[in-house]
Amino acid sequence: MPARRRRPARKMQPEQTTANWEPKTKLGKLVKSKQVTTMTDALNSGLPVREPEIVDILLPEINDEVIDVNMVQRMTDSGRRIKFVITVAVGNNDGFVGFGQAKGKEVGSSIRKAIDNAKLNLIEIRRGCGSWECGCKQAHTVPFNIKGKSGSVEITLKPAPRGIGLATGNVAKKILTLAGIQDCWAFTRGKTKTTVNYAKAVFNALQENAEMRVLSDEIKKVGIKKGSIGQKQEKTQLQEEQNIKQEPSKTEEKKETKKEKVDEKTDNKEEKKEAEKQ
Ligand SMILES: [Zn+2]
Repeated sequence: MPARRRRPARKMQPEQTTANWEPKTKLGKLVKSKQVTTMTDALNSGLPVREPEIVDILLPEINDEVIDVNMVQRMTDSGRRIKFVITVAVGNNDGFVGFGQAKGKEVGSSIRKAIDNAKLNLIEIRRGCGSWECGCKQAHTVPFNIKGKSGSVEITLKPAPRGIGLATGNVAKKILTLAGIQDCWAFTRGKTKTTVNYAKAVFNALQENAEMRVLSDEIKKVGIKKGSIGQKQEKTQLQEEQNIKQEPSKTEEKKETKKEKVDEKTDNKEEKKEAEKQ
């Protein structure tokens, strides 16, 4: 499958999709009646998230990204049958990320199905400053090394100091951006060109991050925060622009060195901006 052009994030219109929504599940009813008002509470309720509208209401700013479109052909007695397997990731760029797949005869409806599945598969990740070189205690990278695996692909995500950006392959970059991780190093093994397994490995690593038990002094030391931290995503937007610029370059090493330079610049810009605000 050739690399797909980046599609601009879909504008969600939660008013339209959720206004006449009739929840069928217990959690859905609690959300509709505003007894559950945050995604964190919804996930901690112990009730399963079975309706994507729950996520639309609690995280109206959620974005989605098509990771892979795979066409599957099958010969039958009546001729050729074509199906599409769609892989997507969703996230609010601030602590919540989901991963989903769907299969269908049409691309459009399958994408929508995959997005819904990703919303039902949402996790709340931890961020912090796990980089000993940085030590800023802000939630800009992963708090500790995390490993993920799918098929032959193994990935280790390592904390990176502020300003490094996402020194990872493009697929990981998309998912980590949706999760709200700004700086991260990735080390991979196996066939990372199989996009779907690579993406699954990244999500698997984030699941480990979400489920891991952490000690309270670790939380203090590394500044670990779970879920949204409510910071405005200026940096993420900058990163997205950089991603687009960098799309044509193929080798990862090149990208990494470039990225560092670009990030240094943007960091300075951000500092200036912040200084102006104060
Ligand atoms: Zn830091």
